[in-house]
Amino acid sequence: MNLSMPNPVQPTEASVEEPMVRFRGVTKRYGDLTVLDHLDLDVQAGEKVAIIGPSGSGKSTLLRALMTLEDIDEGVIMVDGEPLTHMPGADGQLVPASARHQRSVRGKVGMVFQSFNLFPHMNALQNVMEAPVQVLGMPKAQARERAEELLAMVGLEDKLDHYPSQLSGGQQQRVAIARALAMRPKVMLFDEVTSALDPELCGEVLNVIRRLGDAHSLTMLMVTHQMGFAREFADRVCFFNQGRIHEQGSPDELFGNPQQERTQAFLSAVN
Ligand code: ADP
Ligand code: MG
Repeated sequence: MNLSMPNPVQPTEASVEEPMVRFRGVTKRYGDLTVLDHLDLDVQAGEKVAIIGPSGSGKSTLLRALMTLEDIDEGVIMVDGEPLTHMPGADGQLVPASARHQRSVRGKVGMVFQSFNLFPHMNALQNVMEAPVQVLGMPKAQARERAEELLAMVGLEDKLDHYPSQLSGGQQQRVAIARALAMRPKVMLFDEVTSALDPELCGEVLNVIRRLGDAHSLTMLMVTHQMGFAREFADRVCFFNQGRIHEQGSPDELFGNPQQERTQAFLSAVN
């Protein structure tokens, strides 16, 4: 039997598939300041979404909320079909998630920050091995083998024993990417990962991200100021403004033919 043949009666699996990431009515406030404003966003498995927009529009908060680094005030975030912020209670109603539940759902998400955040007293190999050993309880030999593979994938096979202070910014950021991948996330978040780098070091980091996009079915959300990279890399671009997605579309639509005045103004200011 040809398993790929669509069943004419049942809906195809793709049509009922849950998104990998779902934000529904997500609101985040700091005092009087509303940073995420009833935000809705669905990201399909394997989709690459670039998030652009002015400073202070809530882009980092969106990613941090998905990493459970920020609590949200309203709404629901789902990862791979499971609510991150809530879980089913005894009576079947959703109740706020326990820390344990949050950790398990959150384990599907990895993040790379603008500042590389490597452990300064550990070499590259130890940085990548640390979480699989400490958090997942992976045997050291296995974690080491995996870390070596990942560091080779980001082009650092000859820097395993280098400490962060002995690495360039671009190299540190590539270690940070390998470290996030070591936890086998389904979703990777990148928050302005090249902003702290000299222009000549950006390329090596973007190349790694490009390769990740090609080689894996990873779902990726990337906040970036690099419009050229967003245009080439992303399946979809979301323009953020005041805690909402003001406009979104394919890179060609959003960059080539933005519909909203605010989007046009932003794009002409950054280009
Ligand atoms: P972006 O990444 O788009 O530049 P952020 O998500 O970092 O924006 O921030 C959105 C808004 O929230 C900004 O106005 C910022 O000053 C504010 N903000 C972020 N973190 C905090 C905090 N811990 N306390 C108060 N305000 C904050
Ligand atoms: Mg930010």
